[in-house]
Amino acid sequence: MDKKDITRRDFFKLMGATGLAATGLVASSGQDDSHTNATTVPTGTMNRRTLTGDSVSLLGYGCMRWPMLPAPDGKGEMVDQDAVNKLVDYALAHGVNYFDTAPPYCQGQSEEATGIALSRHPRDTYYIATKMSNHHLYGAGLRGKELYDASVKMYQDSFKHLRTDYFDYYLFHILGSGAGMEEMRGRLYDSGVADYILKEREAGRIRKLGFSFHGDVRVFDYMLQESGIQWDFVQIQLNYLDWRHASGRNVNAEYLYGELTKRGIPAVIMEPLLGGRLSKVHDHVVAKFKQREPENSVASWAFRFAGSFPNVLTVLSGMTYMEHLQDNLRTYSPLHPLSDEEFVFLQETAELMMQYQTIPCNDCKYCMPCPYGLDIPAVLLHYNKCINEGNMPRNVQDENYRKARRAFLVGYDRSVPRLRQASHGIGCAQCNPHCPQGIDIPKEMQRIDHFVEMLKQQKA
Ligand code: SF4
Repeated sequence: MDKKDITRRDFFKLMGATGLAATGLVASSGQDDSHTNATTVPTGTMNRRTLTGDSVSLLGYGCMRWPMLPAPDGKGEMVDQDAVNKLVDYALAHGVNYFDTAPPYCQGQSEEATGIALSRHPRDTYYIATKMSNHHLYGAGLRGKELYDASVKMYQDSFKHLRTDYFDYYLFHILGSGAGMEEMRGRLYDSGVADYILKEREAGRIRKLGFSFHGDVRVFDYMLQESGIQWDFVQIQLNYLDWRHASGRNVNAEYLYGELTKRGIPAVIMEPLLGGRLSKVHDHVVAKFKQREPENSVASWAFRFAGSFPNVLTVLSGMTYMEHLQDNLRTYSPLHPLSDEEFVFLQETAELMMQYQTIPCNDCKYCMPCPYGLDIPAVLLHYNKCINEGNMPRNVQDENYRKARRAFLVGYDRSVPRLRQASHGIGCAQCNPHCPQGIDIPKEMQRIDHFVEMLKQQKA
């Protein structure tokens, strides 16, 4: 059997006979403006999914990347509430009704900003999803009763921030990260937090309970097979690169999605664009997409991929700018599901992309703030951008070395202030347990710093 036949058969098996016709959609941040589609945005045609009994828009709003402004006191940043209100109003008017936030998002400001924007609308016109993000508390050393009390406070604060007395969707956040099984047990069971949250579901203050997964597959399997918890949904990372080429500690989405589907558990999709990496692809890959669909954005392919699976409830996208929201609305209003030939094309594209060795950072910012001031995701994203644009200076003998060297160094100073560059890292590794992609951050910082120093010294 050739590879193409196997892939097509697998795809149809997963999609089911009616799967391709039934879909919904999402958007994502980190999206590259240069490849978006400029046609009008339809209303009233957004796909909806009813897998949990709710009528959920296929595009879900990921509230982890709200637009930020410098704080008036000059210390740090604050959410641009006016911009958030406009984005939320526009999203609701165009059919988006699922909003996903969490206590740590936007430096702890996302829940409140989301609550302010949504509470201007009738409560029955949207679904709120938020999370038990006690991985931060566990990481800070809290255990047992101390962890329980702080976790319950986090849960109760979420009601206040989001201006609601019930959550439609509630998740144990980022299970499988950090210390894997040991951390999951400490956060949920040894502390008593799982029992508390299950009672909250029984009491009706949580309508649907799930978990979001990154990392150690043993945790994913345990939660499905042995936890004894009836999951209403599970949030996984799914995109055409991670389908069969997940990097770091991540698990192939084909496995995760398959396990959920065979148990009848709806999947909520995060990282359909892999933190924007699937919109900022190598120029060769852009050309392939544009040859097929000159009018449509590069990102739209990734959204179509995620939305085409019938057991997907909603696809989350962290849309910072109106252009991203509009582009993603177009893709899902309505969705044009992938054909089997397009599915194969995206798998071949993923294999091509594997040849460009980018670092699998999805710009989630879970590693931030860095105690030494590094802007870790900005450093990694600049490095990836240069690879994708073919501006990676490798060898002084290369024809374009001078141009690539200059582009790398000038772009580095523009993208990352000097005091926040990799050279200021001390290798403390405090960030590593927080990285859902399993990136060895100090190692990458050191590697990039050496590379930059070499470029500075090595003039052609
Ligand atoms: S390095 Fe890891 S934790 Fe930090 S932004 Fe990238 S993916 Fe997220």
